[in-house]
Amino acid sequence: MRKWLFHVCWALYLSVNAQDKYPLNYFASPVDSSITLAGNFGEIRPDHFHSGIDIRTQGKEGIPIYAIADGYISRINISPYGYGKALYINHPNGYTSVYAHLKNFNTLIDSVAKSIQYLNETFETDTLLPPLYFVKKGELVAYSGNSGTSQAPHLHFEIRDTKSEIPINPLYFGYKVKDNIPPTPISLSIYPLNENASVNGENKIKKIKILSGKEYYYLNPKDSIIAHGAIGFGIECYDISNDSYSKQAVHSIELLTGGKRRYYAEFEKFSFEDTKYVNAHIDYAEKLNNNIKVQKCFILKNNQLDIYKGTLNNGVVVYNDSIEHWIRIILKDFNGNTSMLIFKVKGTMQEFVPNALNTSNNSLIFKCTDENLCKKENIEIKIPEYALYDDVVFNLTISEEQSNYYSPIYDVHNDEIPLHKPYIIKINANKVPENLKDKACIASINKKERLKYEGGIYENEYISTQTKYFGRFAITADTTPPYIIPKYKTVKKNPVVDFTNKNEIRFMVYDNLSGIKSYKANIDGKWVLLEYDAKSNAMFYFFDDKIATGTHVFKIEVFDKKNNKNEYQFSFKR
Ligand SMILES: [Zn+2]
Repeated sequence: MRKWLFHVCWALYLSVNAQDKYPLNYFASPVDSSITLAGNFGEIRPDHFHSGIDIRTQGKEGIPIYAIADGYISRINISPYGYGKALYINHPNGYTSVYAHLKNFNTLIDSVAKSIQYLNETFETDTLLPPLYFVKKGELVAYSGNSGTSQAPHLHFEIRDTKSEIPINPLYFGYKVKDNIPPTPISLSIYPLNENASVNGENKIKKIKILSGKEYYYLNPKDSIIAHGAIGFGIECYDISNDSYSKQAVHSIELLTGGKRRYYAEFEKFSFEDTKYVNAHIDYAEKLNNNIKVQKCFILKNNQLDIYKGTLNNGVVVYNDSIEHWIRIILKDFNGNTSMLIFKVKGTMQEFVPNALNTSNNSLIFKCTDENLCKKENIEIKIPEYALYDDVVFNLTISEEQSNYYSPIYDVHNDEIPLHKPYIIKINANKVPENLKDKACIASINKKERLKYEGGIYENEYISTQTKYFGRFAITADTTPPYIIPKYKTVKKNPVVDFTNKNEIRFMVYDNLSGIKSYKANIDGKWVLLEYDAKSNAMFYFFDDKIATGTHVFKIEVFDKKNNKNEYQFSFKR
């Protein structure tokens, strides 16, 4: 009884403590209306966890965004990718609020941003500011938008610890989201974790659909699980809130065996340095091949993510008996709504015997804690230590030479295996013609035979580059300059385009392979601000009152990463 009471008190203390760490009533809402979420903290995104909340803006741009507390503008970040136009405000209580994918800033901040852009003659800027521009709680600082890598208009909102820059789940600061709906588990994955482990007699991943339920979930009795050896579990699940139909991340996942916690993950905070461990946290192959997000309830050897608490044997369960074992997986959302999956695993003492044909004798074991090197004829792979999440049996195969590449195609290990850091790939390039040496590069080739530029510079008969992915690689060349397509009406007879009643000049700009490296525009030889939105391949110039009435010359220049250049020039009337 005493012990039981102690556990309850301890659990209460822990939960109060987490909430208590952060000021609850200090910050106001960044928007006028009540907060409804299109995305929450900890969602699984490409190569990262979502580090904030996505607040709905009624599906449109231009919604006023307010400072959540007194502070000063500490950073202005403008990019065609990522956060797009983003504003950072430092608050005196040690936190920084971040507002991203903005359409624009308020008049003062806009003029500060423009003066930085004109001074450096660049659209893209990431500027840290000293305490110069102070704002008040509730002051209008920006308008919501869809800039950067945003799928639809919304406000991406973060609260970071100013010193460490670690983002913290904003809901810990008292923002209320209407949610009394518990999370939903979809499927359970069972992983044999070494070559002698088995699930239902096979040494491969078994996936089982979870029966629909409410709060308590079960498997179909015909989906019995018999396991031997080191086994890991994984769960596909989501959470929805009352005012939002979008599938969001659960707040915590707990796996219990024999009534004891074996694995626990909670999305309170994580560092940007660690966010890439998402690929170790999830079943990466399942995400890559089927776009399904399964979260593993076991921790890989080199997964240093700081969201796991009180795990036992890294979540791995070892079966070597013939009795039934009960397992519970508990899912919670931020409001504490809870769902539980209950199932049993029957152990077996029958060890799995791998087929001798499948184990190649010249295999290379790469330890994830070591630097690893693989040298073959005309190719060299160098993987830094702690780049792999687990030890692997490394494969490198060379296919026959193909006429459309300047090298054979190299199959470097397996694209279903993620990497935490880039590795070096160096390929012999002696087939590259002399006149193309400065245009040659390494490209990866996907299953649809589409090329992706990986970079590289020709040096001493070789091209080498760094990449974060395994897969198929070959040498190609980028000789095609970027495309520039004007998006305004031109009248053939009249070479001077009439822009008297227009407020922008717009182009569609894209590159076939290496991608856009730099771009600029000028009017009558003078640099002007050319904005770039990468996701829509759009570049645009907004007229300001600096352009006098009369005829002017507009010129745009775009370079790709292999220094192929395109330019476009025309006269216009204002
Ligand atoms: Zn977001």
